Amino acid sequence: MTDRFDLSGKVALVTGASSGLGKRFATVLAASGAQVVLAARRAERLEELAASIAAEGGEALAVACDVTDRKSVAAAFEAAEARFGTVRLLVNNAGIAPGGAAIDMPEDAWRSVISTNLDAAFSVAQEAAQRMAKAGGGGAIVNLASILGFTVIKGVAPYAASKAAIVHLTRALALEWARYDIRVNAIAPGWIETEINADFLSGAAGDAIRKANPMRRFGEPADLDGALLLLSSEAGRYITGTTIAVDGGQSLSGS
Ligand code: NAD
Repeated sequence: MTDRFDLSGKVALVTGASSGLGKRFATVLAASGAQVVLAARRAERLEELAASIAAEGGEALAVACDVTDRKSVAAAFEAAEARFGTVRLLVNNAGIAPGGAAIDMPEDAWRSVISTNLDAAFSVAQEAAQRMAKAGGGGAIVNLASILGFTVIKGVAPYAASKAAIVHLTRALALEWARYDIRVNAIAPGWIETEINADFLSGAAGDAIRKANPMRRFGEPADLDGALLLLSSEAGRYITGTTIAVDGGQSLSGS
């Protein structure tokens, strides 16, 4: 049996690749043979990651991109096509998670989360799908949801709402884009220690969350490798519209 997880010859674009999960996703895709476009705002960090991927024998291109700016998104896809060809795999990963009580949250705080986590996730997916459909040959989109799209905690209302919307958007896009042979799925990570939650998880609330986890630990970025490769590769060719929770069982009891 050939390696059905192999991504050789595929061009992947990862948004928010400058840190955390996006950095890991880019590294794993490159190690699996994909040519990877690293798209985020912090160009210096992306160049470092591109160099470290190249040092491991992979191929990567760093492109400064703000996912909330459609022109910037289109330019990133143009740069990807010019260097490697049509992007066949999008990891729609960029996201923000500022905390705050809903009762007096300013409208701009709400808008910035929805604008990055939902509006931009849609427009980046649409940009990718339009180009895949035009080129023919299909592709795959992996969105980043969260277990906070299924269950909630206090202080993250716009984040939780945006991630619940990602779960449903994933289904809606999968339904519409199957005709172009584009699969759309999502990963819903549990609590994985990265920059987005480092302060929160290192406090008392983090301790309680860890203790409530059936596996008694937070996740590590590498815990998402299996779901990423399944949804990205030939191995997952009949999977579309689904969201895979990778959370050590955290969401099973609603905590
Ligand atoms: P992170 O803060 O390390 O990474 C987020 C990335 O998105 C950063 O590189 C950031 O620069 C980028 N980004 C934010 N706004 C952007 C914009 N406008 N344009 C371009 N890039 C932008 O956090 P992370 O934990 O790696 O999060 C990655 C994704 O995983 C997010 O969508 C997050 O919601 C999701 N997620 C994370 C966890 C977790 O526990 N870490 C759990 C569930 C879901």
